[in-house]
Amino acid sequence: MNIVIFGAPGSGKGTQSALLIEEYGYYHISTGDVLRAQIAQGTELGKIADSYISKGQLIPDELMIDILDDVLSAHPESAKGVVFDGFPRTIHQADALDVLLEKRGGKLDIVVGLEVEEEELIERLINRGKTSGRSDDNMETIKKRLDVYNNQTNPLRDHYMEQGKYEAVHGMGSIEDIFANIKSVVEKHRSL
Ligand code: AMP
Repeated sequence: MNIVIFGAPGSGKGTQSALLIEEYGYYHISTGDVLRAQIAQGTELGKIADSYISKGQLIPDELMIDILDDVLSAHPESAKGVVFDGFPRTIHQADALDVLLEKRGGKLDIVVGLEVEEEELIERLINRGKTSGRSDDNMETIKKRLDVYNNQTNPLRDHYMEQGKYEAVHGMGSIEDIFANIKSVVEKHRSL
């Protein structure tokens, strides 16, 4: 199965992706982690990525799509199923994801949307910023990231709803309860 974990910054995508991997053994791709690894290694790509990430902006679509294509090719085990965390973030990326999966004989099965109120998102991100060391976990950049999410990424919700792939999960409460809800929607799609 190929699953997209969808939601605003701070909605718990990384945390819940880790639990999904533990449970089902799919391959985890966090595009944010891929980019941060490039920054940490000081590569050219990392320098370009940092110029967008530190401003709370999205990396240009074509670049991001090429990076994802390379990650999928470098990890053939991903053909058995992937949890996509942080991708797609635009309609263009969503279309590209369909093409990338189709090229490999797969398809996107389900989009799990973690729905969290904005006030809670801000609180979580500010708290994370105390220890994450991330250049984008500060108030100014958080506001920018939420704007980008609302304008560019949130339209994907309707896009996937029209395809019957979107499953909303209430993303507030305990990590375990949220995961239990995610598991039940994943199980539903696994049995389809
Ligand atoms: P994340 O770790 O998912 O919160 O991503 C951190 C930052 O990485 C984002 O604010 C973007 O600047 C960049 N990024 C991650 N994934 C994508 C993507 N799919 N498209 C464009 N930019 C991305």
